Amino acid sequence: MKFFSREKFLCSIDQVKFKTHEELISHMRQTHHYPIVKCHDCRKEFIHEKDRLHHVREEHERKIDYRKHKGE
Ligand SMILES: [Zn+2]
Ligand SMILES: [Zn+2]
Repeated sequence: MKFFSREKFLCSIDQVKFKTHEELISHMRQTHHYPIVKCHDCRKEFIHEKDRLHHVREEHERKIDYRKHKGE
């Protein structure tokens, strides 16, 4: 599954293109007052909740698994 284009970050509301994810995030927030979601683990910001969930799954799942096993 891919959520972002590798080359350009496109605003889904007005089709403005950005070079980086961070620029797109600040555009969404400042221009559209879009509710940005944040990863609780690393503070990375995302436009869509599903993107955050994907990130958590990809980046932090191992840690959670480890913690689970440790607690058992
Ligand atoms: Zn926009
Ligand atoms: Zn994270």
